[in-house]
Amino acid sequence: MTTTTISPARHRSLGDQTWQDQAVCQSTEYNPVDPDVFFPEPDETDKIATAKSLCGQCPVRDVCLDAALEGGDTHGIRGGMTEEEREPLHEKLASRLDYSRVNATIAGRDIHLTKAERRAVVRAAYRHGLTEQRLAWLLKITEEHAQKLYRETRRALRNRKMQQTTYPTLPPGPDYDRLGRDNFGTVA
Ligand code: SF4
Repeated sequence: MTTTTISPARHRSLGDQTWQDQAVCQSTEYNPVDPDVFFPEPDETDKIATAKSLCGQCPVRDVCLDAALEGGDTHGIRGGMTEEEREPLHEKLASRLDYSRVNATIAGRDIHLTKAERRAVVRAAYRHGLTEQRLAWLLKITEEHAQKLYRETRRALRNRKMQQTTYPTLPPGPDYDRLGRDNFGTVA
């Protein structure tokens, strides 16, 4: 008998709140939680310790942290981190370039992308011959917009090729070159 194992999606789909059902901080009749402990003042160390201890047992801790960062939620303890601890992560988010997110998007997942990740999706889609219609669907944009992105990509690649021909000792190109055909369609 053949069995199939479906790996859980690594990244949260946009708008998906179902992960909250597993949150340890969800107060129930059998698991009463004081929500106030998740909004401590910086010197309320007991509250912080209590909240962090709950987060430490939470099965959706990573998703919770991602959701807070992507949603710009800077208040309270999220994913086991205080507001102050999350601050540098919020600042760094805009420059994130996570290829597992690029691959997941190419495979059809609707997930949060930074500008750099959207650009990488366009380059990867272009290089792998995806149609403009498919790109439009993947990025939830119009076909005209997808055509424009492909035009810009074509031009950028052509310019880069010309530069490499003229200056063969230039350093290697951007990271999107690391994406191989085998990277696609295996996520989600
Ligand atoms: S990680 Fe902490 S704040 Fe996030 S859902 Fe779990 S218990 Fe709640």
